[in-house]
Amino acid sequence: MNKKKILTNLNLFSGNDDKLISDATIVIDENIICYSGPSKDFNGSLNNFEVFDLKGKTVIPGMTESHAHISYTNNGPLELDKTPVEEAMIKTVDNARIMLGSGFTSAISFGSIHRIDVFLRDAINSGRILGPRLLAGGRDICAIGGNADTYPDYAKPQTEGLAMITDGPWEIRKAVRTLWKNGVDVVKVMIDGELISLQGRPGDLGYKDEEVEALVDEAHRKKMKVACHARSAEAVKQAVKSGIDFIGHANYIDNEALDLLIENKDRVFVGPGIAWEIAFLENAEKMGYSKDSREVDAYKAEVESTIVSYKRMKKEGIRILVGGDYGLDIAPHGTYAKDLEHYVNLFGFTNAEALHSATRFGGQAMDPEGSLGTIEEGKLADLVIVDGNPLEDITILQDHGRIDMVMKDGLMYKGLMNNKSPYLVDSDKS
Ligand SMILES: [Zn+2]
Repeated sequence: MNKKKILTNLNLFSGNDDKLISDATIVIDENIICYSGPSKDFNGSLNNFEVFDLKGKTVIPGMTESHAHISYTNNGPLELDKTPVEEAMIKTVDNARIMLGSGFTSAISFGSIHRIDVFLRDAINSGRILGPRLLAGGRDICAIGGNADTYPDYAKPQTEGLAMITDGPWEIRKAVRTLWKNGVDVVKVMIDGELISLQGRPGDLGYKDEEVEALVDEAHRKKMKVACHARSAEAVKQAVKSGIDFIGHANYIDNEALDLLIENKDRVFVGPGIAWEIAFLENAEKMGYSKDSREVDAYKAEVESTIVSYKRMKKEGIRILVGGDYGLDIAPHGTYAKDLEHYVNLFGFTNAEALHSATRFGGQAMDPEGSLGTIEEGKLADLVIVDGNPLEDITILQDHGRIDMVMKDGLMYKGLMNNKSPYLVDSDKS
């Protein structure tokens, strides 16, 4: 197969602005983009290129799922660790292929069952299995009684694959070192809780400041990133002040939290992880919660507050990422692009802004050095070929039939949603 590829006759959304360039060309040498723009401005020779005629399809940058749990196996929200690790590993291999096939060429893990992510990342990087570029997570770090330790001791289900329950700065440093030793890229910490939990709700901070500061210091010393679950304003403040990189949820922003985010907007990323909450409200009765239950009322109010918070953050230019805790029965793997629709419908994003969250900002979160997230000269060749125009209809990204091909690292794949097809394509089969 030729190492140089040229993609022509396409509509280009580069991710740098909200424009669509019609009749565009993209040139790729091995895994690097060396031209992207109007076809008429490309003067190079077509000799020695493998040519893909995309027949008017749209090309967008590969998307980043920034709150990923690839090892979650579509269980209920309170049964994340129910699947035996052996079965979870096999399912994770499928989930990774499905994520890539859904147009997500990168993923930031917000926590992995057991040590699955690390083995997954290494298998993807070595080419043994298909999946997105992955910043691998580990077990969540959580205080006693925190969001991954919500059952009283007498009623505790087995959940040791999900979290490291640990307290005190030095014990927390040891937990971080253990994750580092085992190859983790992103440390996930539970800052506050969850409405559905038996104990520890949003606003109940598990750790004192010095504990979270120790965690972040230790992680950054080891060149790892830190992601957190932080719903309340107080939780977000603790997260930003201690230097956490990726803030998950941030549903109840107050002025002080907003000011802190603004001060730190060049280094911090925020994402609501809203998809499963919306799915919970849609499926509450099936899940055994009546329409007027405390949980349904509370999540409704949380979604309302999230809408207000994200409109404020967007206005201030805080970088908001796409990623929604997918991998649950009510929000299964493969439905990741639902996030973009939610951002448009709930937070008032334009379609282009939702795409920027999924592409440019996601790329910046994955690699601050800037190798990912847009289609331009010098970037890594991660692309999604879409049948249709997502600037006109953002929901088409949810339709796997409209994700015609996915390129990751210069290799073009087709048919990734079917676990029996050969995936790699050359120009003859495009
Ligand atoms: Zn999560």
